[in-house]
Amino acid sequence: MSLRALLFRRPPDPQLIETAFDGAIFSVQLRRHRQARRYTLRVQAATRAVVLTMPLRGSVKEARAFAERNGGWIAARLKRLPQAIPFADGLELPLRGVPHRIAHRATRGTVWTEAGEPPLLCVAGERAHLARRVRDFLKREAKRDLEAASRRYATLLAVTVKRVSVRDQTSRWGSCTAEGVLSYSWRLILAPSYVLDYLAAHEVAHLVEMNHSRKFWRVVMQICPDWRRAKPLPPGGRVHMPSVSRKPRWPAGVTVTARDSLLRRIQFSAKQRAASLAPSVPPMCRRRSLQSRHGRQ
Ligand SMILES: [Zn+2]
Repeated sequence: MSLRALLFRRPPDPQLIETAFDGAIFSVQLRRHRQARRYTLRVQAATRAVVLTMPLRGSVKEARAFAERNGGWIAARLKRLPQAIPFADGLELPLRGVPHRIAHRATRGTVWTEAGEPPLLCVAGERAHLARRVRDFLKREAKRDLEAASRRYATLLAVTVKRVSVRDQTSRWGSCTAEGVLSYSWRLILAPSYVLDYLAAHEVAHLVEMNHSRKFWRVVMQICPDWRRAKPLPPGGRVHMPSVSRKPRWPAGVTVTARDSLLRRIQFSAKQRAASLAPSVPPMCRRRSLQSRHGRQ
């Protein structure tokens, strides 16, 4: 490396900076981004991480100043997010929309459900492993239900689903590629089954119509008559679907109200039973990512 390069080389960025507001200290993750033209802040709902994106040539000093100036905004955003509550003995959580109470059993075994008022989600083994076991169980159940629903709809539409994966994705409920790979959020197992079903119908319908056009909705309606009950609104108007207030592209005669929204339903039950599940309510799938992936509307 030349002397000049050494002299002018930028010291490595800190990964985290701290900013204070009103007596509280917040950690902010720094990310440089090739396309960033200015400094921007966002708060990830699922992880509560505060991320500051800066231009490649921006300075850490300016980033710090920007975070300082926006301390109030960070505090307000974090305050609006529900606090995570870990899975623990006695916690109630919805399973396929039905509240279950977690019951630790000091025996050998795995995880199973038992009838009761409310029904129980029994978890065997050491207490220290309970949270992980519950999570693994929910993911397994989610995968089973989503795989079955996706295959069912794929048969109806005579399309091929190559793979179904269930992930901890927090930015959307589901997504699909033109190659037939479907991904879903495991948290769908918490919602009533008709919601999970609708999501599967929605993603599989994208294998026929890779967009959110009228044609697409017609396909959804055809295979999932219950779609109206489950149809979500994107949170905060940030869209995967055409916004209702802008130029509507819903099928004729369809009205979408906040009351119908999947989001509200899940937030409601999460608030009531297991607030830990609420921070991760993502929009269903982002139109922009679909467009960029497939290059057509
Ligand atoms: Zn979609």
